[in-house]
Amino acid sequence: MIDQQLKDVIRDVPDFPKPGIVFKDITPILKNIHLCQRILEAFMDRLQPDTIDVVAGIESRGFLFGLWLAQELGKPFVPIRKQGKLPYHTVAQAYTLEYGEAIIEIHEDAFKRGARVLIHDDLLATGGTVIAASELIQKLGGSIAGYAFVVSLDFLEGKKKLADYSQQIVSLIA
Ligand code: IMP
Repeated sequence: MIDQQLKDVIRDVPDFPKPGIVFKDITPILKNIHLCQRILEAFMDRLQPDTIDVVAGIESRGFLFGLWLAQELGKPFVPIRKQGKLPYHTVAQAYTLEYGEAIIEIHEDAFKRGARVLIHDDLLATGGTVIAASELIQKLGGSIAGYAFVVSLDFLEGKKKLADYSQQIVSLIA
């Protein structure tokens, strides 16, 4: 089962990035290219491709599988990045995350109005990051097709907050 394989390789790093936080380190997954391929297959099994026009990946770990997922879906990929990283005209959204405050941005020409955007990130914790991403997409006239995560920390109840935006919420392990 993919969830057990993922649990076996994702490592808990205590006190990162600050004391008291137990960080889920997904980088060991990347050393196993077959497991990476299984992640893509699992996403494709669980998503509804005909509801998705664009995949948006969130910096930086959302880029790892985001572009690959877009390729599998045959759809464009757009990056959502931290403030100041995207070179062209952007729209921005401020938010609170588990470890402080942040601003994310997207290029103003990332997709056409009315596009249905799947948001991808490696991990869902409180939901603050993907809610900010959802607001950003709506500011550009897009709608939220759904969410795809490798890991969801369900005890933080982030998924409940996403239900207002889309019912399509896929996570491979909780
Ligand atoms: P949220 O905004 O609280 O849902 O936090 C999710 C964001 O923080 C995502 O962009 C994750 O990449 C990152 N993040 C938070 N906790 C972890 C973790 O334990 N491992 C990996 N990324 C994390």
